[in-house]
Amino acid sequence: MTSVAPNVYGLDQTALEFATTAASIARDVALPAAADVDANARFPQESLSALAREGLLGLSVPKEFGGKGEGPRAFAATVEEIAQGCPSTAMIYVMHVSAAQTIITSTALAQREDILRSMAEGRHLTTLAFSEKGSRSQFWAPVSKLEQANGGYKTNAMKSWVTSAGHADSYVSSAQNAGASSPMESTLYLVRKNAEGVRLVSPFNGIGLRGNDSAPVALENLFVSNGDLISQSGAGAQMILEVVLPWFCIGTAAMANGLCRAAVNATSNHLSTAGFEHTNSKLRDLPNLRARLAEMSLRTEQSRALLGYTLDEMESPTQMTPLYVLQSRLGAIQAAVDVTDLAMKTCGGAAFSRHLGIERLFRDARAGWVMAPTADHLQDFIGKALTGLPLF
Ligand SMILES: Cc1cc2nc3c(=O)[nH]c(=O)nc-3n(C[C@H](O)[C@H](O)[C@H](O)COP(=O)(O)OP(=O)(O)OC[C@H]3O[C@@H](n4cnc5c(N)ncnc54)[C@H](O)[C@@H]3O)c2cc1C
Repeated sequence: MTSVAPNVYGLDQTALEFATTAASIARDVALPAAADVDANARFPQESLSALAREGLLGLSVPKEFGGKGEGPRAFAATVEEIAQGCPSTAMIYVMHVSAAQTIITSTALAQREDILRSMAEGRHLTTLAFSEKGSRSQFWAPVSKLEQANGGYKTNAMKSWVTSAGHADSYVSSAQNAGASSPMESTLYLVRKNAEGVRLVSPFNGIGLRGNDSAPVALENLFVSNGDLISQSGAGAQMILEVVLPWFCIGTAAMANGLCRAAVNATSNHLSTAGFEHTNSKLRDLPNLRARLAEMSLRTEQSRALLGYTLDEMESPTQMTPLYVLQSRLGAIQAAVDVTDLAMKTCGGAAFSRHLGIERLFRDARAGWVMAPTADHLQDFIGKALTGLPLF
């Protein structure tokens, strides 16, 4: 984890330096805290503070606002490194950078510049609040509405999962715009965590990513001013699909790849060190275990290569780029579930107990599968794209 593994993401020297910084934070700060974060379902504040100190909360913020001005390549590599130390931290970071993209590209948000400068200085963490109790994983279709009131809007919403709910400074939220005739006619707006009408419903208690604080948040008679709008009125779905989705897919694919790398490393280390005294041999002397490790490594590198190719596509977009973006997320979340499952089987009872950290990776890897777009949504979207059907 100290140096960035073969540069499949086509990083230039600057991006490589950010990834190397992320790898140091993962090794020195995130990994030592990961078991405690998991056991106590606590927010990994030390890791977030380290990322903020290094300016990585502003990784994709344009340089004119003090950010690093980096694109998807540096993002993918940075996330992959962080995920090897603490996947909960990586999740929080993916949500922050994906949500930040809406602010970066906004032409409506009044405080855009102040917020971007705060991110670059490590003083502003943001996140996505799309999922709602009423439309569940179908994040593209909010059931909440913005209704005109007092020269702005009023809204009520039950946001069912908000990563960093109790710790983010703002949430990028979605609602049907005033007078919408379908949930696809939506608008994105910014919610300040401490605004009147924002209520954290209950703490997060999941089987994996236990530090990511993905709690439900109720918005009750929340006032949204015109200056709080992020997308133009009615252009929310377009922003979700064209701005958020690519960064989210890349980020979660990289996170899954980091989980895979951590599982390969932990398994390889265990096979090389644990052994049988009565035969004076190591676990690595068993060919079935070596074969499983080989399969784990192959799946990991296939997924990383697909993500690397997708990053090339994103830099010089073609008609195929959206398909690759969806496929890279699907390939990576499937690989993470399979690779961590193989790690459990390969390391036996030692993995079943907590001391190797493999069972934590196994639990954490399940989240990618159920986060929207879920594996089911991705398969459906990909199948539709390949047969010329509209996605919605
Ligand atoms: C760790 C974690 C962090 C999260 N963080 C955030 C966040 O920060 N912001 C946010 O907005 N959301 C977040 N989510 C929520 C996530 O994106 C999903 O909305 C949520 O996991 C959906 O769960 P559900 O039980 O409502 O799924 P359901 O919608 O009830 O899905 C149940 C099953 O039906 C399948 N299904 C649903 N619709 C279709 C369809 N159209 N076609 C085929 N199959 C379908 C699903 O794939 C799934 O297998 C997070 C989730 C997790 C696990």
